[in-house]
Amino acid sequence: MLFEKDYFLTGKINEECGVFGVFNVKDAASLTYFGLHALQHRGQEASGIATSNKKEIKCIKGRGLLTETFNNRVIKELKGVHAVGHVRYSTAGGNEIENIQPIMVRSHKGDFAVSHNGNIVNAKELREEMENNGSIFQGTSDSEIIGHLIQREQGDFVEKIRKAVLHLEGAFAFVVMRENEMYAVRDHNGLRPLSVAKVDNGYVVSSESCAFDIVNGREEFDVLPGELLKIDYNGIQHIQYAEKTQLKMCAMEYIYFSRPDSSIDGINVHTARKLSGRMLAKIDKEAGDVEADIVVGVPDSSLSAAMGYAEESGLPYELGLIKNRYVGRTFIQPTQAQRERGVRMKLSAVRDIVKGKRIILVDDSIVRGTTSKRIVQLLKDAGATEVHVRIGSPAITHPCFYGVDTSSRKELISARKNNEEVRDFIIADSLKFLEVDKMMEAFETENLCVACFNGVYPTDLFNLGVQLKEEIENER
Ligand code: SF4
Repeated sequence: MLFEKDYFLTGKINEECGVFGVFNVKDAASLTYFGLHALQHRGQEASGIATSNKKEIKCIKGRGLLTETFNNRVIKELKGVHAVGHVRYSTAGGNEIENIQPIMVRSHKGDFAVSHNGNIVNAKELREEMENNGSIFQGTSDSEIIGHLIQREQGDFVEKIRKAVLHLEGAFAFVVMRENEMYAVRDHNGLRPLSVAKVDNGYVVSSESCAFDIVNGREEFDVLPGELLKIDYNGIQHIQYAEKTQLKMCAMEYIYFSRPDSSIDGINVHTARKLSGRMLAKIDKEAGDVEADIVVGVPDSSLSAAMGYAEESGLPYELGLIKNRYVGRTFIQPTQAQRERGVRMKLSAVRDIVKGKRIILVDDSIVRGTTSKRIVQLLKDAGATEVHVRIGSPAITHPCFYGVDTSSRKELISARKNNEEVRDFIIADSLKFLEVDKMMEAFETENLCVACFNGVYPTDLFNLGVQLKEEIENER
């Protein structure tokens, strides 16, 4: 059955994956299920859990939401005190069953399971080189490349992983489980988040710290850029595998992807969003060019920023838009009218609140512009007299190659139109984005990847860079 990626309907960008690992905790599969449930927003196309009973690894995975593959009966089949799990949104590799993670690598030297989040930018080059040397791939995902690289290296397992990751360029945060060991690795730019917490006498590893609460995780910390953790019965060994490291956390994790109750590299996501809203309000106050009655956020990821805007501006924060939480995944919708209905199924304007009002509408980002336009239309149809759109991030002008599904500039309205043209397209009365420097000032950090806003990528892009250059040249 074909499912439409949310992107086409909502105009929002999607992240690729969430990973979760459990080491030495009773009922590891159940814990992983709960952890993945908290990470479901990071991927709804497929999920999987592999467990180790200390002697062998068993893996079950399937398409769709976690609840479509796992129930009590299935979880009971996954015995063991160690587990690794994954929720998937596919951008690298399709949604074929072979690409669903954890990826299992079985060999006479011992089996292991890999769960990975992010995109490897030199995947094509690595795959070609390995295929020329006899490697056979089952699927098309980057994660399988990681498995192959680890398997072909020599030395003890730490050494194998250390040598393998030195071949990788791009964004990766992954967990590897062997029968009695677990490893957690983050790329040398720290582009994707990965955190660890203690649970009883064991440990849990997660893409986001929001998953620790439900499993009673404590003493949590982030895996550092360029760090490899070995987790076994002796505790945690920290190994710095990369000499040159920097923190360039994906800014979109704070702006849009992560849950507000997660903290990434010491910054709480809700707080960061509120600060971005406050900054937007400060900019408006200084410019003195807009008058409004209420502040409305686009649910859910923009509500924190809207609260921040309201606090700073002194305007009332109102629930002008309501999200229908039971829409679920959306089928391919071929006509404009059906797409229109799709947005109205997901969002409704609260007529009594917005009628006759001048609204500051706070959203997190604009990708194609079509969703923003529909939301502005929704508010105006409900009687809003003015809609001033304020975006809690800079204009997206470049594609992301690090695990977010904006692979072409063609999809990005701000790559083709200036601010006034975008404003006109989304039928807003005014439009402002948060510039890169103001966003960093608001978040109080410069340790961010902002490549999709300014085209300065923190890694080499290999073949993808050549394609991007060609695309930009063809636009001229
Ligand atoms: S390019 Fe944008 S979406 Fe991609 S990692 Fe960097 S900040 Fe995140």
